Amino acid sequence: MTDRYAVIGHPIGHSKSPLIHGLFAQACGHTLRYEALEGPLTPADGFERLVHDFRAQGGLGLNITAPFKLRAFALADERSERATLAGAANALKFEGGRILAENFDGIGLRRDIEVNLQCPLAGRRVLLLGAGGAARGALLPFLHAGPAELVLTNRDEAKAQALVAELAGRGPLRSRPYAALAAEGRFDLVVNATSASLSGQLPPVPASVFSPTGTAYELAYGKGLTPFLKLARQAGVRGVADGVGMLVEQAAEAFAWWRGVRPATTAVIDRLTVPLE
Ligand code: NDP
Repeated sequence: MTDRYAVIGHPIGHSKSPLIHGLFAQACGHTLRYEALEGPLTPADGFERLVHDFRAQGGLGLNITAPFKLRAFALADERSERATLAGAANALKFEGGRILAENFDGIGLRRDIEVNLQCPLAGRRVLLLGAGGAARGALLPFLHAGPAELVLTNRDEAKAQALVAELAGRGPLRSRPYAALAAEGRFDLVVNATSASLSGQLPPVPASVFSPTGTAYELAYGKGLTPFLKLARQAGVRGVADGVGMLVEQAAEAFAWWRGVRPATTAVIDRLTVPLE
């Protein structure tokens, strides 16, 4: 029987995951089937059944996208530390009768920044905007990279403060409200892990946080120059990127977790990249 994998989301029609995993399988010489499964309209309405049915039909693993990452985390039998901190799973593996949960978003983001964009985090000042699932998933991978400082900012400040408290002693992490950022000087890397760009909005970040020799990274992808990236450009930043590389890198991590081989990503990223302007 052909090995089966899938991505579940809602809506799922525009998902790039079947294309990405198809290209990985081809490059690695693996034969597998990877589908896009439309999840229920509301997560409470049959997400778990869809997962269990897929598994009962011989499915080996799933990618999970919005809005089901929290439910996927909750239904797992075992969760990695990364997934636990994020409180969310973006990949599941069915193994030995158990459901294992992982979250590769943060490690995919770090790899895109450090390897593909050649922007090492060690010793740098990093500003992370947002405290939702994607930002939470990025905290440990970022801290493991050894930044000089990691500042977390969120509209709902209590969420950022709670995350900093949870990670006390794990690295140079602190939270600051948006209103205090103007006094923080320039950062080498500013990462927009808010969902503001999905509705064409700009998080209330001052232009003074950007460094012309630094990098501005937008997690959303396929949106061209978002208001955040435009602000960075206006502040003189030349190194701007969207989240397409992160998408491909997290997929490569999931492929490696399921199949034991990490596929090369450069050609796949090139294929999916849409010029920002
Ligand atoms: P969540 O819904 O979990 O979190 C949303 C976050 O955005 C919260 O911190 C929220 O703040 C903040 N936010 C929303 N609107 C605004 C605004 N107008 N101004 C300031 N802050 C705002 O989303 P995710 O973490 O899952 O996703 C975040 C982004 O990352 C999305 O753009 C998503 O597409 C992208 N993403 C990209 C991936 C990739 O592979 N490239 C993978 C995963 C996500 P508050 O808590 O105050 O409400």
